[in-house]
Formats: sequence, structure tokens, C-alpha cells
Amino acid sequence: MQPEERPPQRDAADPRPLVGEPLFLDLLNTRWIDDGVRHDLLDSTDGLAVWLRSAGLDERATADRATLDATVRTREILLALVDEEPSAQSADALNGVLERGALHLRLGLGGPQNHARTDDPAWLPSWLAAADYLRLMADSPDRVKPCAHPNCVLHFHDTTKNGTRRWCSMAVCGNRAKAARHYERAKTGR
Ligand SMILES: [Zn+2]
Repeated sequence: MQPEERPPQRDAADPRPLVGEPLFLDLLNTRWIDDGVRHDLLDSTDGLAVWLRSAGLDERATADRATLDATVRTREILLALVDEEPSAQSADALNGVLERGALHLRLGLGGPQNHARTDDPAWLPSWLAAADYLRLMADSPDRVKPCAHPNCVLHFHDTTKNGTRRWCSMAVCGNRAKAARHYERAKTGR
């Protein structure tokens, strides 16, 4: 069954180093660290507008204060679920988001569709991200990973055949780690 959302397309104004991950990870990846400086795309409704376009949700959600507050709150809940030990508190928090909406099944011209609806439109991106989290936890929980670089806060879905992906990006974090190892070896003469 195909979701009726249009596929995400990177917005030209999107400054993030990692895009194109599944929706719940794409929401987590609105925070990143670049040269020791923390960035947050969701620090304004303008940034939210960029994220909604990148996530393909700009026709279904409004980049207003209510949507921003809901989305940032949901990002915190999802971060706690991914980065901390499982707890009843974080499960309850996620269930609180999920209770705001439901999936309606219907037949479209192209075949079966599913369509998410929420009690308040401000919660639609949050609900979709929470539902996407459940989907990935059901399909491949061990493939949801944080970047292995200690100074990186990005997360990704490892779709490599053997599950060997360690970095958000080989070009950025992979090379930084390689350079650091090289430096350590040179320094200790090994
Ligand atoms: Zn990284």
C-alpha cells in the first residue's frame, strides 16, 4: 500500500548535512553539530518551513508556532526513545502523540492509499514521525543507529547489506575519524 504523501525532495534552502533519512530520523536530524557549533533548524517557524518542504509535508502542514511547538516536543520524545534506556515515561509520551491521530484507509485512483488525520493539524508532522518510528522499530530496530563519531548527534537508518554503516557520512564523520586515528598512530610511532 502506498502512502499518498509525495516523496520528499530536498529543499534548496535546507542547510542540514544529512537529509533523506526516513521521516522520524529526518526529524531528529534537524539538530546537528558543525565545527563544534550546535545548529537547530527548528529554532524558528522559517526553519520549520524548510523542514516541512524537505519532508514533503508543506502542503499538509502550516509552518506556524503551534506546529513548531508540537514538532519540537515530538523530536524530544523521539530522541529520548532512541538515545536513552527504554522507559514507561518515554513510551507514554510517544503514545500521547499517537493518540492525536489515526490512519484512514481508502481507495485512490492509483490503488489503495492510507491517509493520516489528526485532531489538530499542528500535530500532523509529529504523528507521521511517531508512526514512522513504530514502522522502523517493527521492521529493523537494530538498523536505527547514531553516527559513531563522538561529536556528532545525527542518526541514520542503515540500509547496507551487512549492516556495517557507522557514520552519518563517510565524507564528513568517517574521514574525521580516520584522520584522528592516523594522527594517534603518527604521534605514538605505531
Ligand atoms: Zn556524523
